[in-house]
Amino acid sequence: MKLRIFNVQVFQPLRRPVSESAAVSGVIIWVYDPPEDSVVVRMLTQVPVQFKDIEAYRSIVGDQVIQTLKEKAEPLKGARVVHINSTAYGGGVAEMLYTTVPLMRSLGLEAEWQVIQGDQDFFTVTKFLHNSLQGMEIPTTREMREKYLHIVKENALNFQGDYDFVVVHDPQPCAMLEFLERAKRKRGRWIWRCHIDTTFAQDDAWDFLLPFINRYDAAIFTKDDYIKTPLEVGKVAFITPSIDPLSPKNMIPEPEVQRFIINRYGVDINRPIILQVSRFDPWKDPLGAVDTYRMAKKEFPQVQLVFLASMASDDPEGWHYYEKTSNYAGEDPDIFLLSNLQGIGNLEVSAFQAASTVVLQKSLREGFGLTVTEAMWKGKPVVAGKVGGILLQIDDGLNGFLVENPVESAERVVKLLGDEKIRERVGAAAHRKVQEKFLCTRKLQDYLDLFLSLN
Ligand code: UDP
Repeated sequence: MKLRIFNVQVFQPLRRPVSESAAVSGVIIWVYDPPEDSVVVRMLTQVPVQFKDIEAYRSIVGDQVIQTLKEKAEPLKGARVVHINSTAYGGGVAEMLYTTVPLMRSLGLEAEWQVIQGDQDFFTVTKFLHNSLQGMEIPTTREMREKYLHIVKENALNFQGDYDFVVVHDPQPCAMLEFLERAKRKRGRWIWRCHIDTTFAQDDAWDFLLPFINRYDAAIFTKDDYIKTPLEVGKVAFITPSIDPLSPKNMIPEPEVQRFIINRYGVDINRPIILQVSRFDPWKDPLGAVDTYRMAKKEFPQVQLVFLASMASDDPEGWHYYEKTSNYAGEDPDIFLLSNLQGIGNLEVSAFQAASTVVLQKSLREGFGLTVTEAMWKGKPVVAGKVGGILLQIDDGLNGFLVENPVESAERVVKLLGDEKIRERVGAAAHRKVQEKFLCTRKLQDYLDLFLSLN
């Protein structure tokens, strides 16, 4: 695919803090100075995905599930489906599309995945929008709206193809439909999929997005309390995310491989490991994770804390939070901040999850939290923030622990570090919960049901 660039102007953003609270939390806003003319023609890019065969899942989910999927897919054979989001790597949406798209193909649908294009300022604006929708006090300024609409419009007007179902993920591409409708180019059914925790969304961010959401034929949310005000979409569906038990991320490496990988990063596999796998993001509360570790270390001086992060292309805030966490961790040799830049990929994440003693997910907001699901699937006891989608996954005390602050999380971590039996009991229950509710085959069925209801 060719990206045509003409009359490029360099765009100079200003930096200034927007509000007391934003400044206190270290947030800097980019004020957009819109260019006179359109400068870059942006086209969505196609993401190549591997082949996956639905039959391979039979031994994990059973005959009945596979048969139901095939029956539901029958009337949808040949349906053209495209998923649109804003990044091909980093974060839960990309993680899921690498499975959803090939499995839809395996069931006979013609599924594709396209990613919108944007510059750094666009992704800064969309990250602010994301933060504001998750409840951070950031105003959605006129400049931000203009920047957002300018880039989304370019993507929309260059969107090619004729699809029966278009599934648009998250706020970044949400307004595309608006521009296609205005241009009388809407084809097929459009579904907006919200992955974020909008329980405490700021009014101006929600109100900005609402007219664009209302254009859709359907919207999918993870929980009903994420819908702040009534929607006018044709249909609202509630679908929880899921993991792929056959992805490299979720296949557990042999103990020797785990040892080899973990030693490579200087972490001692013979000492207890607390692990948090997350983008560096205020909502993932990496500083709270460090506090938890410090309190636990008083009881267990041998314990180590490992952060695994992937730096997503649509998340420019990641570096800011990486630095913040690194400064907060200081010179402690038992705290490790590792990322995809040091070769942390699916195999490494899986090895660390499998080898850790306790998995932490100290989130303050969490649309769902696939990292929680992944660790639960590996039979790990997870201590996680009592927020958002984590509440759908962990039944407190039974298959994990829900916490509201670092003191509580340290108490739970200490309890788990000191008691192997509890770790095993909680971990086994965690695995069962994922088997029952959060595997990709269940989510595929939910998608098929939705498509059939819109047909
Ligand atoms: N992830 C990864 N490598 C990392 C950090 C995260 O592959 O170094 C993956 C993680 O395993 C999970 C996804 O990114 O599959 C994060 O999804 P989640 O729903 O937990 O959070 P999000 O980033 O979407 O807010």
